[in-house]
Amino acid sequence: MLLVVLEHDRGEMAEAAREALTFARPLAAALGVELHAALIGSSDSNLVAEAGRHGAETVHVVRHEILSEYGPEAVGSALAELIDEVDPTAVLACATDRGNETMAFAASCLDMPLVTNCVEVVPGDPWEITRMQWGGSLLEDVTLVSARPLLTCGLHVVASEPVGPVEAAVEEFQPDLDESLARSILRDRVVLTQGVTLPTAQVVCGGGRGVGSADGFAILDELAGELGGVVGCSRAVTNLGWRPHKDQVGQTGTRIAPEVYIASGISGAIQHWVGAMASQHILAINTDREANIVAKADWAVIADLHEVIPAITAEIRRRRRPRPPSPSPNRNQGA
Ligand SMILES: Cc1cc2nc3c(=O)[nH]c(=O)nc-3n(C[C@H](O)[C@H](O)[C@H](O)COP(=O)(O)OP(=O)(O)OC[C@H]3O[C@@H](n4cnc5c(N)ncnc54)[C@H](O)[C@@H]3O)c2cc1C
Repeated sequence: MLLVVLEHDRGEMAEAAREALTFARPLAAALGVELHAALIGSSDSNLVAEAGRHGAETVHVVRHEILSEYGPEAVGSALAELIDEVDPTAVLACATDRGNETMAFAASCLDMPLVTNCVEVVPGDPWEITRMQWGGSLLEDVTLVSARPLLTCGLHVVASEPVGPVEAAVEEFQPDLDESLARSILRDRVVLTQGVTLPTAQVVCGGGRGVGSADGFAILDELAGELGGVVGCSRAVTNLGWRPHKDQVGQTGTRIAPEVYIASGISGAIQHWVGAMASQHILAINTDREANIVAKADWAVIADLHEVIPAITAEIRRRRRPRPPSPSPNRNQGA
């Protein structure tokens, strides 16, 4: 079997877990094995059903009292014990912070190699793998010799796709975990961003140096508000102190995968592009038709963003305004 580790938090399946299952399906088919999932620290039936919808035939529900909140040593050790128990051909998680951390801990428990951030995996002897570094600006070809490959797939390398209403079988597993493994356990969360966030937003309105000032971002905030999206920016902008680092898209910022990325006043340097290239559609607004981002965009407006952005926002608002009822053609007739 190919075992996929499901990332979840407080009853919510992470999008990364759906991506990992989507990435794993063709790999399981190439290996000729079943696709199983490991649900560690929860037995929530909604999560089991979600795993089934994304192709898991069996979900291994791993329960222990120290797994009720996330802790890398505890979850990694539980995963290592599950791997020993169910003997999978290979194990895969998504390369989020938690995914890489959990897999690294399990790999060290099992004394096995781990290859992270994979974008392509071809099983064989040895396994041929392409993995990304530096946010995707460098691709490395790797050969892996291991009795049991442990892998993480790059975040947003695939878009998650359900396969339909497949009911997964459930198998319970109780690991034998020592209390001392609860060395770092999540106790509380302070959510700094409410609602839609940069990594998950379906619309990102990005601004670069061409925006001109911190105040200049007000027109992007307005447009993002109209579209239910969020504002992103380039590193030039964070360096200038116009926006916080959490808004930065790119190699040293966030990797985004929205349906639409509106990149205004951004040149599209490679370090920015690697964070934006998973966008499904890109609209570039730039005064320079030779800018990199213009060459990569699906659509481009060659003009001053200070004119284009307010015009888009005004047009959206105009179209959304309820229209006054049109006068009846028969009014006054026969009066
Ligand atoms: C190790 C390393 C890591 C990096 N990581 C990142 C990263 O994570 N993210 C990132 O973004 N960058 C990163 N960079 C920086 C990157 O190389 C670029 O310098 C940066 O992306 C440029 O930002 P920019 O496009 O906003 O600015 P510029 O390159 O100065 O481009 C500004 C653009 O605005 C256009 N413009 C100007 N005025 C207007 C106007 N009125 N209307 C419309 N268009 C206008 C110009 O034509 C130009 O194309 C990194 C660099 C290094 C060395």
